[in-house]
Amino acid sequence: MSIAQNIAEIKKAIPDNVKLVAVSKTKPEEDILLAYQTGHRIFGENKAQELTRKYEDLPKDIEWHFIGHLQSNKVKYIAPFVGLMHGVDSLKLLKVINKEARKNERVIPCLLQFHIAREKTKFGLSREKAKDLLESEAYTKMKNVKIKGVMGMATYTDDMEMVRQEFRMLKKIFEWLKVDYFADTTDFGEISMGMSDDYRLAIEEGSTLVRVGSKIFGARNYS
Ligand SMILES: *Cc1c(COP(=O)(O)O)cnc(C)c1O
Repeated sequence: MSIAQNIAEIKKAIPDNVKLVAVSKTKPEEDILLAYQTGHRIFGENKAQELTRKYEDLPKDIEWHFIGHLQSNKVKYIAPFVGLMHGVDSLKLLKVINKEARKNERVIPCLLQFHIAREKTKFGLSREKAKDLLESEAYTKMKNVKIKGVMGMATYTDDMEMVRQEFRMLKKIFEWLKVDYFADTTDFGEISMGMSDDYRLAIEEGSTLVRVGSKIFGARNYS
């Protein structure tokens, strides 16, 4: 199947309120253009340098999402153009994003990443840490970031029941934050969860943004 066919297939399977992030990390710009030519505009990358190069080379109406863990010292490279930061998991990082956004005279949309998986290695906030962040004086003074929702990564496993429980947990966290911290805004509405192997499941559990890579572009070759 071609990239265009893969995209068409996935879009057919997802409801109108769910957006597809085509995860193009490690893939050549030609592949991104093939997806672009079908009318697709949202792409996800997880390395600042690679994202910046692709941004410079490719059409400017692409909406670039940063989906990985970002070191604070690299925020400045993507702050001028990034469309959504999926992986914000500390106040420190949010402070830097806010600072760099201010320099660029823009507001950067962000998602808070939560730790929902069993694995210890996965990044993400706990509920307690999120509470501390959202109640901090530093956060309440930030004018150049907008928290639009939450993001999470499920455990890497064949146990789909476990994955479902983890997605369900993220949805619960989203509802809690919405009531306790974002009741007076309509801006807080995104739940980023689901990848190639579990995006359908994620949608059943309330995902609004699915991040699909290999199902569109084929397996990645890390070398
Ligand atoms: C690579 C990646 C994806 C896409 O993974 P696939 O299994 O290829 O769909 C989604 N989210 C994040 C955070 C990733 O790093």
